[in-house]
Amino acid sequence: QTAVPAELTELLKQVTGFDAFRPGQEEVIRSVLAGRDTIAVLPTGAGKSLCYQLPVHLTGGTVLIVSPLLSLMEDQVARMKSEGEKSVAALNSFLTPPEKSAVLRNLGGYRFIFTSPEMLMQRHVSDRLNELDIAYIVADEAHCISQWGFDFRPDYLRLRQWLEGLRRRPPVLALTATASEEAIRDIEAYLLMDRPVKFIYPPDRPNIALQIVPLAGREEKTEWILQEIPVTTGPGILYVQSRKRAEELAERLRGCRVAAAAFHAGMEKEDRMLVQQQFLNGELEWICATNAFGMGIDKPDVRHVIHDQLPSSAAQYIQEIGRAGRDGGQSLATLLYSGQDAETAMFIALDELPDPAVVRFLADCIASGENARTAGERAGLSETAVRVASYWIGEEGADGAAARMEALAAGKRRGISEMVRFAEGEG
Ligand code: ADP
Ligand code: MG
Repeated sequence: QTAVPAELTELLKQVTGFDAFRPGQEEVIRSVLAGRDTIAVLPTGAGKSLCYQLPVHLTGGTVLIVSPLLSLMEDQVARMKSEGEKSVAALNSFLTPPEKSAVLRNLGGYRFIFTSPEMLMQRHVSDRLNELDIAYIVADEAHCISQWGFDFRPDYLRLRQWLEGLRRRPPVLALTATASEEAIRDIEAYLLMDRPVKFIYPPDRPNIALQIVPLAGREEKTEWILQEIPVTTGPGILYVQSRKRAEELAERLRGCRVAAAAFHAGMEKEDRMLVQQQFLNGELEWICATNAFGMGIDKPDVRHVIHDQLPSSAAQYIQEIGRAGRDGGQSLATLLYSGQDAETAMFIALDELPDPAVVRFLADCIASGENARTAGERAGLSETAVRVASYWIGEEGADGAAARMEALAAGKRRGISEMVRFAEGEG
């Protein structure tokens, strides 16, 4: 049991130099110190990292932070090092084999260990972690565990297996900026949480003005974008639905003398990192991105976020526009909306999901020894769809997996309807 002082601000000052906690931070920290499983939903920029950085100074031991994205992990580690925290390691696939061995050898010597769900599934890694004195486990961007979420990472589901195999399960702290009730239920279930304490602070961002611009269709949207972006205040992010549209609009904006670049998951990692860096430096004014862009990006002065298409849920929309105005400065969020958008959004969201027949086909292929990915390719499924479906086939068989896919589709339909109501000014 950790002795917790009545006053935590002294420790806050010592460790970080900050004078006061921001809303939510102290409550979350006290819950972790009390040894409780904790879910904290705090807006982007609220200072969630501090919630896991501080308690370890009282508990001792090691904090294990599981992060869904390698780039996010690298940023966070670099940031902590630059703030003077030396006892931090990143255990991920960027390490060369000798580097990895060195980190694994010294594992007990670190105060903070960042890692990915994939790493946890490696036997020699999980064995080493099992020997450690882990004070608490952190799931950062925990909404990624939820299939209801737009940022779903199937690998996050593996966390459950890893937690089940632990010799002693330390308290778990789940952090996220957006979580619907469904996502929170998933977080509780998949992280095997025991009566978690929940802190939910809705995103209250009075400095972001919302505007909805009704337009006839794609062509009119393009026209609007090419007319408005050159004269609007940046830096900004233009969210689009497809890789092709991202490339096309970036190019046309450059033609209008806007320093713009595309960002999507189809680009080489180096190119993505370069674009991100240039945007952070201010060399680029606009990013035309798919929803692959943004998680963990800490650029305080984004002034404008434009959506060319309907996001697939209110939670996704809130997360994406939350990237504007993190410095508190006046910012704008614009949703370009046309009557056909709902249909397109439904098509894209549901196209990803295999129907029951495809799930059974996939299950048969896997049962006959075929690799899930190859089988998925034959069925025309996306990589994510294959990973989700094959995970559930493994857990619950073909029928169970088909039912899961149906439920997912229903959730997606609900999310999009919610956005349509918002766009039409009804919610
Ligand atoms: P989140 O993960 O919630 O999006 P971060 O943890 O990245 O946010 O923190 C955002 C910024 O706020 C960081 O630059 C951090 O140093 C700063 N910050 C966090 N807590 C405080 C505090 N109590 N006082 C002042 N600045 C803070
Ligand atoms: Mg964060």
